[in-house]
Amino acid sequence: MERTFIAIKPDGVQRGLVSEIIRRFETKGFTLVGLKFLIASRELAEQHYGVHKERPFFGSLVDFITSGPVVAMVWEGEGVIASARKLIGATNPLTSEPGTIRGDLGVNIGRNLIHGSDAPETAEYEMGLWFKADELVSWTPTAMPWIHE
Ligand code: UDP
Ligand code: MG
Repeated sequence: MERTFIAIKPDGVQRGLVSEIIRRFETKGFTLVGLKFLIASRELAEQHYGVHKERPFFGSLVDFITSGPVVAMVWEGEGVIASARKLIGATNPLTSEPGTIRGDLGVNIGRNLIHGSDAPETAEYEMGLWFKADELVSWTPTAMPWIHE
């Protein structure tokens, strides 16, 4: 089973959209295996967004992501990495499709509500950065036979 790292950014938390965003992953049929609520340190944020460190928006992105609490999560399911990216929508909420989290709930690229790992390697890296192995819970929802053949 695949796992991916998802984080509700400080704008999602401040706007009271935590339940709305989690609902979309839950009702889709993915399984929550890790969850924590924290204000990220600058070090964690810089590691998380390390791939963007030469980009002009890096400083303001790290300022923003550390500016308030985030909901860090790991979700599990078949094809969850790519599917979560589809649920989330394109990076710029102004052009994200309606029906996606960013397309339905945001208007600005610097306030796009949610992060999701973009590939198996980044999912592994980000899960390891935000969670210890014993903070992830392996379990099988009783509804699983109604979600999967
Ligand atoms: N970002 C930004 N300005 C830009 C591009 C990206 O503020 O011009 C921020 C935005 O919050 C985005 C994050 O940097 O979610 C990481 O960018 P990436 O291209 O990896 O987008 P994502 O994977 O989040 O869709
Ligand atoms: Mg990205």
